Amino acid sequence: MSKNKSSESVKVVVRCRPLNHKEVSNGPAGGIIQMDLRLGQVILRNPRAPASEPQKTFTFDGVYDANSKQRDLYDESVRPLIDSVLAGFNGTIFAYGQTGTGKTYTMQGAWMDPEKRGVIPNAFDHIFTHISRSQSDRQYLVRASYLEIYLEEIRDLLDPKHGNARALELRENPESGVYVRDLTSCVCKSIKEIEEVMNMGNQARAVGATDMNEHSSRSHALFLITVECSQPGPDGRKHIRVGRLNLVDLAGSERQAKTGVQGERLKEAAKINLSLSALGNVISALADGRSSHVPYRDSKLTRLLQDSLGGNAKTVMVATLGPAPQHYDETLTTLRYANRAKNIQNQPRVNEDPKDALLREFQREIARLRAQLNHRKWRSKQKKEQVEVDGEAWEREGDEETEGEDEEGVEKAAEEYVKLEEQRLEMEKEAIRGDQFMLAEEKQRLLGEKERMMGDLRKEQEATEQLTAKYKAMESKLLVGGKNIIDHTNEQQKMLEMKRQEIADQTCSEREIQQQMLVQDEETLELRETFTSLQQEVEAKTKKLKKYLKLYAKLQCIKAEIQDVNDEHVRSRQELEQTQNELTRELKFKYLIIENFIPPEEKNKIMNRLTFDPEEDQWKFQPLVPAESKSSQMKKRPTSAVGYKRPISQYARVAIAMGAHSRYRAENIMFLELDMTPPNTASLDRSAETELNQSHSVDSSPTKDRGVRKSRSWCQTPKSITSSSSNVSLAACHTATPMAAQ
Ligand code: ADP
Ligand code: MG
Repeated sequence: MSKNKSSESVKVVVRCRPLNHKEVSNGPAGGIIQMDLRLGQVILRNPRAPASEPQKTFTFDGVYDANSKQRDLYDESVRPLIDSVLAGFNGTIFAYGQTGTGKTYTMQGAWMDPEKRGVIPNAFDHIFTHISRSQSDRQYLVRASYLEIYLEEIRDLLDPKHGNARALELRENPESGVYVRDLTSCVCKSIKEIEEVMNMGNQARAVGATDMNEHSSRSHALFLITVECSQPGPDGRKHIRVGRLNLVDLAGSERQAKTGVQGERLKEAAKINLSLSALGNVISALADGRSSHVPYRDSKLTRLLQDSLGGNAKTVMVATLGPAPQHYDETLTTLRYANRAKNIQNQPRVNEDPKDALLREFQREIARLRAQLNHRKWRSKQKKEQVEVDGEAWEREGDEETEGEDEEGVEKAAEEYVKLEEQRLEMEKEAIRGDQFMLAEEKQRLLGEKERMMGDLRKEQEATEQLTAKYKAMESKLLVGGKNIIDHTNEQQKMLEMKRQEIADQTCSEREIQQQMLVQDEETLELRETFTSLQQEVEAKTKKLKKYLKLYAKLQCIKAEIQDVNDEHVRSRQELEQTQNELTRELKFKYLIIENFIPPEEKNKIMNRLTFDPEEDQWKFQPLVPAESKSSQMKKRPTSAVGYKRPISQYARVAIAMGAHSRYRAENIMFLELDMTPPNTASLDRSAETELNQSHSVDSSPTKDRGVRKSRSWCQTPKSITSSSSNVSLAACHTATPMAAQ
């Protein structure tokens, strides 16, 4: 099916669950689905159609009937994909189907029961067993995340505040494609740890929903596993390969009943349909192969699965079906959907040495901690040797010289040094305490010093211990291959699994050959047309007729299918029209409120502040005053002429210079100098007394002349005005002269 060497099509398998008790008790009609496991075909019977109508047949990469085991599906259809992820490819498995058809059963199953474990728990086993069996020069880092998309919002299921946490955003990066910002990612070191992560997420999902069934059928759950593997390449350097695995349990594919729902429920139904219909549109656009635009951006789900559909990932789709007659329409839609997905071509490629590999960062950090730790230990060892040499003044640059020595020896030496040092300090303290010739004060001082040295030693030791703990914790996160390989039972199990895998591969290829043979049978009919006798001619013509009859039946099938597709199209159009009508009614209602109860100026203000954010698909308010334009909106003070405190016109400047009216003064239109009290030196003789009276009368001039005319005070003459600023004194001079002349 591949179009070119590096492309491969999405693998589609179909699984049908058994009839449940309720369906069995509904009547003897039985299931409407038949499966040919050898040919990989699903035959669907229409319960409402007459028996003469041909049944619909679909062919897939694998079909699993009601008796199929979880293990069969995993070994045949999922195992090769997980192997690819371990080799550094991106991989996706998604379960699609109507609610109650077994999506969650296929993906999760009952993880406690080994027979009923679904794809996710089996993938855990597979990944960690692979790591333990790989060669010891490989290092692995496994991380897991769990999220759900509900009402077009992404929620982190591993966040303890899941219920109240805000929705997460999608981001895109050229290196790793679309990713969820701030999503919790747990480093897992064992199957147990990753199972805990899964259970934690499942619990969060259950707690978040009032009705578990309702919620789980309306939300998409994505379990993401990243496996990073570091391995020495032929160039001797360590190379990292990163495989990302998406395990997706989609929302129920059934049409949400929209009749009669309003408000939040209507929006909810529209949003659930949005993600799934966007997925359908993406699949159609990719399967068609002719459309230049693939609408990935229409929903969060399609953006997250962008790599998996038409991208660089390997993808398996598991379409789940229910056998009950009442779900014929939904079953047919699912089969059509799955049939279309078969035509999608992906271009898988290995992610080699990506820049954002966390394993590289971990390795660097571990190397740094190790160097720090070694340095500390060498230092302690050196000190110990110095103590042993007992004062001899020799030093050596330990790091290079001691490189050849074994680490254990150094660690031992470092520990011994601490012990020796403690003993030495204790002995010295004892000696000080026992010295009778020393002054009490001196003793106290020396003891204090020793105590301080002891404290330093302990602090150093604590720091080393902390560093060791950090180093060990960091190192334990990396998984090293080949730990259990010597185990004999393990070897046998490995062989068994290999054999099982071989059988699964054989079944797949057998199925492919059968399918090819069926096509070839039809073609070879044409080649046998050479006949010599009438009998042969009759035979040949009968065969031809049979062939035409077959073709005619096929034509009828296709015609019926076209009719079905048309019906479905009309149905979905009617539904869309209905949604549109409901939304228009709601819009009119809101318009009515806005137009009648909100003042137009308020409405305009709000509308001017609104902008649409395409990333978050929401309208957002702009801040009232944009931060950057705040300063530019402040009115600037106009620049004044040099030397003046406020702007002054050319005319006014000339007028000042000419000594014109006081209104042209730039400032200080009043004289602000203090009045000086007249000297109080009256002599006692009478002539002097009259003089005094005269001067007194000058001073007691009417108060109304004060104010502006302070220049008339007793000693005021134009000459006596002084001012520090030249322009003020100039202005004062010009105004003082006419006043003095009054
Ligand atoms: P979905 O997730 O599609 O809504 P579930 O996985 O919850 O459906 O399945 C509905 C019920 O059917 C569950 O009780 C499940 O145990 C049962 N079931 C589904 N598939 C199978 C199967 N292949 N074999 C046995 N029981 C199944
Ligand atoms: Mg489910």
